[in-house]
Amino acid sequence: MRRCASPPRLRLRVTAAAEPRLRRGHPWLFADSIREQNRPGELGELAVVYDRQDRFLAIGLYDPDSPIRLRLLHAGKPQELDDTWWAARLERALQARAGFDEQQTTGWRWIYGESDGWPGLVLDRYNRTLVLKLYTAAWLPRLEQIRALLRTRLEPERIVLRLSRNIQAAARDRFSRVDGQILLGEPLAGPVIFLENGLQFEAEVLRGQKTGFFLDQRDNRRRVEVLAADKRVLNAFSFSGGFSVYAARGGAQAVTDLDLSAHALAAAQRNFALNETVPSLRACQHELVQAEAFEWLSGNADARFDLIVLDPPSLARREVERAGALRAYHRLVSLGLSHLTRGGVLVASSCSAHVTSTEFFDAVLRAVEQAGRKFDELERTGHPADHPVGFAEAAYLKGIFLRERR
Ligand code: SAH
Repeated sequence: MRRCASPPRLRLRVTAAAEPRLRRGHPWLFADSIREQNRPGELGELAVVYDRQDRFLAIGLYDPDSPIRLRLLHAGKPQELDDTWWAARLERALQARAGFDEQQTTGWRWIYGESDGWPGLVLDRYNRTLVLKLYTAAWLPRLEQIRALLRTRLEPERIVLRLSRNIQAAARDRFSRVDGQILLGEPLAGPVIFLENGLQFEAEVLRGQKTGFFLDQRDNRRRVEVLAADKRVLNAFSFSGGFSVYAARGGAQAVTDLDLSAHALAAAQRNFALNETVPSLRACQHELVQAEAFEWLSGNADARFDLIVLDPPSLARREVERAGALRAYHRLVSLGLSHLTRGGVLVASSCSAHVTSTEFFDAVLRAVEQAGRKFDELERTGHPADHPVGFAEAAYLKGIFLRERR
């Protein structure tokens, strides 16, 4: 009897409804859309989807433990995923970010998951450190291959592995991988310093939120800088003071960072110090307030600002929290407006994927209307170029810039 060294390729057949979706390039195949498979699949192995005529439809990463059972890597013509294919897949993402001027900016997202053809995987760069963040355990068996690819192509000084909370146990128990592990290069004692539009910032790559910094607000921070001259600025949910440092460079008289976290405010202070050589930053008065934002805004009736940034964490982490989140955004904007001077600028942003941009803008505009004040809309914003939206579920960020009519 002949013995096979490796099991036959994992083959899936899917429901009639799922086929056209996959053909159009939607990157997720849910477990309940699978009609048939030739054998149980293993975490991270490649599985091929066949259509009703038994033709190749797509290939992806299999995960037996996730409701998103297959994350597509390729759909269309049959394709072997060899080293050349993987190198080309990386190259495609890199080329899409060719526009950054490294003299000014050394922090950006190289790979934004599904939208760049790397489902559940994010790669950010902070100066010469790469942060590889995995949102699915299906990449774990391939980590060595990816590490080698990144090392050869990008020649980083260091690669840090970050793991979303839901895969940390599997990573530890089955692959001996932990969140914050250094995959390449020297250990890190503290944050990594990088450049954004000529300003220096810390990224807390080992343990910080996301991959250590909110790269996605880069363009909005620039917009705030341009609007900030001579203004007193409130940066609510400031985190490490990103918006504030830009506002200060833009000539703000004073900026107040408001955040619940002492840790975030300490980083904001250091980020100001890092940019001390910029004269307008030195001239700007910088205040730190550690408080719950809704409470502080409700309590400090006399505080007045000419420009207010409201950038809360995701107020809806799950679909069922959507309605509550919209009420919270409405309330937040109402509270913000009560502190905004006549003719002032309000910047409101949402990073919740469960709240659509239309719903968010409506909530903000309703609050404005109810305050009985007239604002001009300066701009509505979405994703920056290094966070492309390749499919609907990838869209989460929206912002609106309003200025009161005098
Ligand atoms: N605007 C930031 C990112 C904000 S992240 C930037 O551009 O970098 C959200 C921040 O809100 C975190 O720093 C978190 O500590 C803070 N936060 C969360 N809940 C809060 C609350 N209820 N009141 C005040 N700050 C809060």
